Amino acid sequence: MKILVLNAGSSTQKSALFKLEPDASPDPLSPEWEGRLEWDGEQESLVIRNSQGQEIRNKTLSDPKNRQSSVRKMLVNVWSGPAAVLSAPSEIAVAGHRIVHGGSELTQPVVVDSQVKKQIAAVAEIAPLHNQAGLSGIELTEELLPGTRQVAVFDTGFHRTLPQPVAVYPGPYAWYESGIRRYGFHGINHEYCAHRAAHMLRRDLSSLKIISCHLGNGCSLAAIDGGQSVDTTMGFTPLEGLMMGTRSGSIDPGILTHLMRVEGVSGNELNQILNQQSGLLGISGVSSDMRDIVKAMGEGSQQAKLAFEMFVHRLRAGIGAMAASLGGLDALAFTAGIGENSAEVRQAACAKVGFLGIELDEARNSSVKPDGELSRDSSRARVLVIRAQEDWCIARACARLA
Ligand code: ADP
Repeated sequence: MKILVLNAGSSTQKSALFKLEPDASPDPLSPEWEGRLEWDGEQESLVIRNSQGQEIRNKTLSDPKNRQSSVRKMLVNVWSGPAAVLSAPSEIAVAGHRIVHGGSELTQPVVVDSQVKKQIAAVAEIAPLHNQAGLSGIELTEELLPGTRQVAVFDTGFHRTLPQPVAVYPGPYAWYESGIRRYGFHGINHEYCAHRAAHMLRRDLSSLKIISCHLGNGCSLAAIDGGQSVDTTMGFTPLEGLMMGTRSGSIDPGILTHLMRVEGVSGNELNQILNQQSGLLGISGVSSDMRDIVKAMGEGSQQAKLAFEMFVHRLRAGIGAMAASLGGLDALAFTAGIGENSAEVRQAACAKVGFLGIELDEARNSSVKPDGELSRDSSRARVLVIRAQEDWCIARACARLA
């Protein structure tokens, strides 16, 4: 079965084609074809890789303002041109979409129909950066692959088990009644990491307390007890919690009311500042990319050093909070761009949490390739690095619902 996955982020659109059967093994598979569109404000680049992960196309697109047209240009490469792996789009059996926010209703992967589309559109109000892109992907698929079954998988879904005291904000109770509550995100990958960690440790997931650290452009932690999400750092939107590439994470809400009252900053401006001009970029003034931060720190930038130390401080505080919610810790899993690649961040994050039974092996930490282990043999809690496999997880959900 050929499954096309569309994974829309705030500044990237990834797509992948998998060949997968409903009863496929639980080990992740590489895609047959992979496309990645990236916007960096002015320029837009398209990279296409083959099943070996080799780059077979890399070009700058001409009209970066029309995203839908760029995504269309990327997708037709699946069945036409030099990078094609199919002879016709009709070979695609199912198209799967990562939808960031499912709200209260959409928690399990579902086949998309007009009702589901309406529900996704209704929550786009809360997560405009992400849900609009997901919806556009569904509409584009309707146009390019008419009649093809589509499946939506939700990043909030895994956190449906958050206990009420974790999910409710301590504002007026009416907030909760109107849907203002903590939802949590990155659920597709947090859930996968929990299963993968249990598999790597040859333990039963139902007996494990796991903290999953998803550290990419967006960053969040999940506390997973017996396979269920019991706490997480993101909330009503993907802005709460840890410091991120361009997002602030949690700050005193009094800062916002101050800026609105005294400086006359509008809601839209605040949204832009907190989502685009904060985090690693806002503090370092250098970049939102952890590689650039580490490099600038090495070259003596004090602001880059501060950004790194703040990132790590907030990460450690988050790990402590998640461990307290779990009441113990068996495994700490690092995943996504920073989690998989930055030995510096992993080392700094683990430096003060030895009291949780975490002992990092420095040599293993600096040489590990995902998926692997980086704790000492004597470490009570295991420390793992696990490659994020969101697209494959979405493809599996599609195969199950096909
Ligand atoms: P997204 O959340 O968009 O899927 P990724 O998971 O790809 O993002 O993570 C992107 C981030 O990963 C980049 O901003 C960069 O900071 C970080 N990253 C990627 N490679 C490395 C590396 N070798 N060392 C440190 N950080 C890295």
